Amino acid sequence: MWGIRLKAICPSGDHTPNQPLVIIPQLGQRGPLGRCRSNVPTPISHAAVGFAVAAWTQHGVATRRVCIVAAACAVLPDMDVIGWLLHVSNASPFGHRAITHSLAFALVGAVVATIVFFPGNQWTRGRARIALILGLALVSHACLDALSTYSVGVEFFAPFSQRRFRFPWTPLGVPNGSLVGQIVQEAVFVLLPAVLVGWLGIRTRRRDSGLTAPRVSP
Ligand SMILES: [Zn+2]
Repeated sequence: MWGIRLKAICPSGDHTPNQPLVIIPQLGQRGPLGRCRSNVPTPISHAAVGFAVAAWTQHGVATRRVCIVAAACAVLPDMDVIGWLLHVSNASPFGHRAITHSLAFALVGAVVATIVFFPGNQWTRGRARIALILGLALVSHACLDALSTYSVGVEFFAPFSQRRFRFPWTPLGVPNGSLVGQIVQEAVFVLLPAVLVGWLGIRTRRRDSGLTAPRVSP
């Protein structure tokens, strides 16, 4: 179903003979993983997708706080870039697109973010819904990464499995193209549509609530 192809790639196309290529294994196989850097999707595009998710999935009028926290959650998985500075291999659980891009991290991250930014004594239906929204924003990051040809693959099931996946359809990324070309492509296919969809979500929710001003509630 996933259609994972056995393919040696370098996300940014900037590998050298001394820099190991990344092997995306087929289902049931595992390949050697080295270090490989990717440039996009950039944090702003991930944030825009998180914002769009929050704009459409909130109950009633979208609130500014949920939109902002969801946008931040959508960026959070790329905190693993710290590993680059520390020369962490992609084979490590703390490598790029590993544990922080997993479903388990999304679950834990959503709960923690809800507790921190939406404190309360009980897990009401409203807080549970917020946690679900933040979880979706976190998962959106990994899904967006899995849509890229330059992806080193995403460890959706870490820490239980280090198998890396990407979707059969990978519209993002020009492996041998310029960084500028990749950013333009990302803006056209991710950033602008996500901002538009989020804005439409806010307007739609306000209209359905009988409000007319296209403004996010505090
Ligand atoms: Zn990422």
